Amino acid sequence: MTTALVLGDQLTRQAGPLAAEHDVDPDRVLMVESRAFATRRRYHSQKLTLLFAAMRNFRDALRDDGWTVRYERADTFRQGFERFFADHPDETLVAMEPASHGAGRGLRDAVSTAGGDLELVANETFLCSPEAFDEWHAGAYDDADTYRQEEFYRWMRRRTGFLLTDDGEPEGGSWNYDEQNRETPPADYESPPLPTFDYGEHVGEVREWVEEAVETWGSDEEFGWPVRRGQALDALADFCANRLADFGPYQDAMVGGEWALDHSLLSAAINLGLLHPREVVEAAVETYREREDVPLNSVEGFVRQLLGWREFVRHVYRREMPDLADANQLDHERDLPPLYRDAGATDAACLSEAVGHVEERGYAHHIERLMLLSNFALTYGTDPRELTEWFHRSFVDGFHWVTVPNVVGMGVYASDAFATKPYASSAAYVDRMSDYCDDCPYDPDATTGDDACPFNSLYWDFLDHHEERFRHNHRMAAVYHHWDERDEDERDAVRERAAEVRRAARDGSL
Ligand code: SF4
Repeated sequence: MTTALVLGDQLTRQAGPLAAEHDVDPDRVLMVESRAFATRRRYHSQKLTLLFAAMRNFRDALRDDGWTVRYERADTFRQGFERFFADHPDETLVAMEPASHGAGRGLRDAVSTAGGDLELVANETFLCSPEAFDEWHAGAYDDADTYRQEEFYRWMRRRTGFLLTDDGEPEGGSWNYDEQNRETPPADYESPPLPTFDYGEHVGEVREWVEEAVETWGSDEEFGWPVRRGQALDALADFCANRLADFGPYQDAMVGGEWALDHSLLSAAINLGLLHPREVVEAAVETYREREDVPLNSVEGFVRQLLGWREFVRHVYRREMPDLADANQLDHERDLPPLYRDAGATDAACLSEAVGHVEERGYAHHIERLMLLSNFALTYGTDPRELTEWFHRSFVDGFHWVTVPNVVGMGVYASDAFATKPYASSAAYVDRMSDYCDDCPYDPDATTGDDACPFNSLYWDFLDHHEERFRHNHRMAAVYHHWDERDEDERDAVRERAAEVRRAARDGSL
């Protein structure tokens, strides 16, 4: 006899053992809520509330539809399995292969120690299987360690047919419309209101338990994430109706007081299994087909996030683990500064705003993650493992398979698997793409002096420190040309200011 084991990030009946077409097709389900998981890290409170409330709602929905669900609240997964096998000694559990490295082996060990068997089947919550990716990669590159997202994305577009003409060419003539997606909204722009959800009992119950029993960080007052599939579908429909049109042009913008702008906010629901990426892409493309006011650059940019980047990082992570998690090619060893734990601990308006979004929501959008939170940690010289751990604990959509490649590969260039140069930047980028600098005590145009923007000296000092590695990278030749134009006294002043900034960040007085 077979029982489906439903993990907390596999809450789906669109794929895997619970999907109607699957040949295992058990009518019994086991779910285990592990307290050890909740206390293993000091997670953001909203992350735990979301995960456990979504699990309990998924259980209820299954029971309402006639499934037999055994739901164990246990100290550990192993204890949950022991209780289950004590009552059902002849059962075999079947689950989808977890996306995070080592999780499948850990589950198998826990089930086996509890006296049972676990069969792991293909993880169908993605659009590209490991076999398909590996076959594409073998045909695309001679080098096993070379990966380029843009090439993978074009292959996925051709393979799935999304946004292709009848001749198999990209719709509109270009694969990528990023040059149209770098606008900032006008001063009187009002972001569309976000959908709200009626949570029923589970969100309140879990919140109480988390508050009483688990040490967390962040606030849960603004909790607003979908915790049921119906709510996730409503959130998807709301995004397509109200925010997809402006998503493209404003996707890289940062605006004071606006944590969501026109972002979809669907990543957590997708990563938990409440939505399948295929239906999300289909809904966005269908909206584009039906509505003249939804531009191609908006839908293409959104589709690329899911069809390209999400699938790409999942597979590069799969192939490059376990080394990827410990990669540190720039030999950065500093501790994460205290401002990442308290938005009020810094006067730097942009960092305070981005950390504030994480504190209040367990979320910041991709440019805040890359160009503020990661960029500062990169140029400050943070140990990549510390930043990865912070992302993993803090973001409602962060799982190991997501945070390791995004932080290690993209955010702080600790591995060159994902990018050919670091995403380091001075204040110029933040000043161009946000209104944060207008209300900041630091001067975005100054590199030295007490009120000089911390990003500027850190940026140049980072380039100076890693000159041997980066000077001959043709994509960075222009910035070294600017550095060469400074005389030695000016360079020393930059180095001194960077040291001051690092001291202040470390002491919590930046
Ligand atoms: S001046 Fe510097 S620290 Fe202040 S908001 Fe601009 S980029 Fe951020």
